[in-house]
Amino acid sequence: MQQRKKPPATTLDRLALVRERIARAARDAGRVPQEVTLVCVSKTFGAQDISPVIGAGERVFGENRVQEALEKWPPLKASHPGLEVHLVGPLQSNKAHDAVLFFDVIETVDREKIAKTLAEKIQKTSRHPKLYVQVNTGAEPQKAGVLPQEADRFIERCRKEYGHKISGLMCIPPLDDQASPHFAFLNQIASRNGISVLSMGMSADFELAIQLGATHVRIGSAIFGER
Ligand SMILES: *Cc1c(COP(=O)(O)O)cnc(C)c1O
Repeated sequence: MQQRKKPPATTLDRLALVRERIARAARDAGRVPQEVTLVCVSKTFGAQDISPVIGAGERVFGENRVQEALEKWPPLKASHPGLEVHLVGPLQSNKAHDAVLFFDVIETVDREKIAKTLAEKIQKTSRHPKLYVQVNTGAEPQKAGVLPQEADRFIERCRKEYGHKISGLMCIPPLDDQASPHFAFLNQIASRNGISVLSMGMSADFELAIQLGATHVRIGSAIFGER
């Protein structure tokens, strides 16, 4: 009789499976698994869910709200040196100061005003989080991100006008589109702008993203469970 595999029952079981799938997708694409950083997106989950994942060796986490991150991460960071927390949600100017003080990476730089505000806060605080530009590859009106046709110019403005390094690009493809053209498109924009970090791929499509060059996959529900 054929045995059916049970779905992974705990956060650590799910994490193990995600790691396996990342490694397999990387190898299938002729890449080494170490080239792909797992960003564990822990939004809505508390320390009791996050701690075992840190215990299992994960070091990179993603949050989508500044306030929520400030409420739960400082104690975790204090007791686990070397953690890296990414902001993956939209950033308002009035939260930029806190964001610069707290986050290691801000993945959602997407407009002139926030680029300018971040430059001011970086100067004021002497903290230099890595900055990625979010590209709205599907040009969805309700979605954050710079429009694709404005991406090159925006990246150049960030660099020349505000002195930002811009080390990565990030995208969230439209829910009801095929994701692969969006991933390929983001990869092209990165290449022609000399950017090597590509944050793309979530629980539903990270293998595809790895195939198309993702260096960072942002995975929430496949690790922590449904929100
Ligand atoms: C929530 C979120 C994720 C993770 O989504 P899952 O589908 O749960 O893996 C990734 N990126 C961003 C920007 C998010 O807000």
